[in-house]
Amino acid sequence: MKNQKKLIILTGPSGVGKGTVVKEILGKDKNIWLSISATTREPRQGEKEGENYYFLNEEKFKEMIEQNLFLEWAQFAGNYYGTPLSSVNEKINKGFTVLLEIEVEGAKQIKEKFPNSLSIFLLPPDKAELERRIRNRGTEKEDSIKKRLSRANYEISASNQFDFALINHKVAETAERIIKLIQT
Ligand code: 5GP
Repeated sequence: MKNQKKLIILTGPSGVGKGTVVKEILGKDKNIWLSISATTREPRQGEKEGENYYFLNEEKFKEMIEQNLFLEWAQFAGNYYGTPLSSVNEKINKGFTVLLEIEVEGAKQIKEKFPNSLSIFLLPPDKAELERRIRNRGTEKEDSIKKRLSRANYEISASNQFDFALINHKVAETAERIIKLIQT
């Protein structure tokens, strides 16, 4: 990929607020395009095919892995998640800055493949606040909440492997800081 500086990775534990921060960023900078991932998890209420995710069954997802159609993929809390290669290439070639909102293993893969990409890790103010945020979101069953929280310790311990680690206190401020990092 020629224009690696146009590839931005936003990672961090589930519940830290990546999605909300991304929405704020997209509203403020129209040159940033968010990659839509594929996943095998069930759609949540209100989620739309092709808008939030491409919802695939496991067979189709594995087929795409075999055909090398993902830029990266990972398993998370019992499901597969992956970034479709073709749309990212297309948008980068058109001059967009491409934002990937992904979990830590996928983020590490991208950083290895594209060392000049910009990687940002979002941290919660503390573990109790992370749990509060996941629970308040109200999207997950207890079983999934537990998986996500137990994974969070491992993920947070990897935060120093990325270019920047920011504590997400307030969405608007975090988004501003990220836009500054992207634009400099
Ligand atoms: P959720 O089920 O809450 O939508 O997502 C679970 C985790 O998977 C989140 O940390 C989210 O950022 C991550 N994720 C979403 N899409 C991708 C992807 O394409 N690749 C990877 N590696 N992680 C993803």
